[in-house]
Amino acid sequence: MVERIDTDMCVIGGGSGGLSVAAGASQMGAATVLIEVDKMGGDCLNYGCVPSKALLAAGKLAHLARGNPAFGVATGAVRVDFRAVHGHVHGVIDAIAPNDSVERFEGLGVRVIRAKARFTGSQEVSAGDAIVRARRIVIATGSSPAVPPIPGLAEVAYLSNETVFELAELPRHLIIIGGGPIGLELAQAHRDLGAEVTVLELFTVLAKDDPELAEFVRRQIVDDGVALREGVKIARVERAGDGVAVIVQKPEGEEERIEGSHLLVAAGRRPNLDGLDLAQAGVAYSPKGIAVDQRLRTSNKKIFAIGDVAGSYQFTHIAGYHAGIVIRNALFRLPAKADYRAVPWVTYTAPELAQVGLAEAEAKKQHGAIKVLRWPFHENDRAQAERATAGMIKVVTAANGRILGAGIVGAHAGELIQVWCLAISQGLKIGAMAGMIAPYPTLGEVSKRVAGSYFTPSLFSERTKKLVRFLARFG
Ligand SMILES: Cc1cc2nc3c(=O)[nH]c(=O)nc-3n(C[C@H](O)[C@H](O)[C@H](O)COP(=O)(O)OP(=O)(O)OC[C@H]3O[C@@H](n4cnc5c(N)ncnc54)[C@H](O)[C@@H]3O)c2cc1C
Repeated sequence: MVERIDTDMCVIGGGSGGLSVAAGASQMGAATVLIEVDKMGGDCLNYGCVPSKALLAAGKLAHLARGNPAFGVATGAVRVDFRAVHGHVHGVIDAIAPNDSVERFEGLGVRVIRAKARFTGSQEVSAGDAIVRARRIVIATGSSPAVPPIPGLAEVAYLSNETVFELAELPRHLIIIGGGPIGLELAQAHRDLGAEVTVLELFTVLAKDDPELAEFVRRQIVDDGVALREGVKIARVERAGDGVAVIVQKPEGEEERIEGSHLLVAAGRRPNLDGLDLAQAGVAYSPKGIAVDQRLRTSNKKIFAIGDVAGSYQFTHIAGYHAGIVIRNALFRLPAKADYRAVPWVTYTAPELAQVGLAEAEAKKQHGAIKVLRWPFHENDRAQAERATAGMIKVVTAANGRILGAGIVGAHAGELIQVWCLAISQGLKIGAMAGMIAPYPTLGEVSKRVAGSYFTPSLFSERTKKLVRFLARFG
């Protein structure tokens, strides 16, 4: 028996973006239906941010526990119980899951349907036994791991972010295809926990980040003992006993065989569009995702697309940001637009790598005359005390001092970047950061110091010296 539901708002996808829209819309009085085919919480909670950060945390602890003779603290042999690590990762997911649960959303007044959604008209969606007609529809179906066209891949058992966190035994030798943030985070976590790890990257690792900053991460990953190979062309993949072999095509024409116990594919993402039947609703899309305007409206103005499926920045905080834009547009009919000038992102390796706004190359392209400021962590007393001196902050300003972008590599970079997120979103000039009183000794002082360096040439110039001498004599 088909149930017909008439509603104000229908949200497809119960992940980072969809849940934020549904919670907001319902609490603001809109009748809201949420359709989710798999786990509530989507990729971030179940297969992405949360398990990867929990695994990294276990890896970091193992790394720390192995000790550092420079501190004068000796430790014994470290034993990793990977089954318990698996328990820890899933314990963290379980602790957060109630926030995203059906019960919580039903408690907020949302009608939750557990089924796959498919468009059946310009304002109509079918899901399980229900047909939902909605005044506004939000597509928040996220993305899935992209599978590169490597011969033999379909014939071997390979892991993706959807399965790797299910492993209850430490891989003996994990081969990872892809050296982006996901590949490198998982490489370092598994290496720290005791696995042999090889990363195979077609181009260069962390290609979306400032190469000068990414180099710190690359060096550390190599020092950790990960076999990192860039510019690698994979000819094919095949089974090798219980494991897998990756055959690499060398430039000279010969082949090299790399055998591992497990293969993880982390080679990009593709938008989840399959089975949505977008043509029924007149929603235009491409392999990169659903086309949206600045207000996140699709080619059907009553339908919005947000988060990973909308193909811009694929982060949880962007899905959440999109949700706010959609609520203003869909519920209040305000022409709110997405503004990407202050988008931050972080790779949670050790050292962490964080960026907000424009990096040097892009800033030069867009603004021509720019100033680039750098401050190394080894000039920071707290970094010295904690022997966390591998890192630097790099800031780019316009000729008039307006802050265009900031990148930080080093301990706690993801926390340190936040003040720059605020500065850029508020259009601040570098003087505001230089004038801030930063507590001593904190890593955060790097922000003040790098900003201060903008003024160093004029502050210590011959002109200033002359002025000071003049004032001293006649003032
Ligand atoms: C390993 C990994 C680590 C990551 N780490 C970070 C991080 O540290 N920080 C960060 O900001 N981002 C991180 N991300 C990215 C982040 O997970 C995504 O950007 C975020 O989840 C996108 O949210 P979303 O709402 O667009 O999609 P999702 O959260 O994936 O939600 C989409 C939901 O839609 C459902 N769905 C799909 N099709 C249908 C349909 N037809 N009908 C009904 N339901 C459907 C899916 O089942 C899913 O639950 C990571 C990703 C991965 C893979």
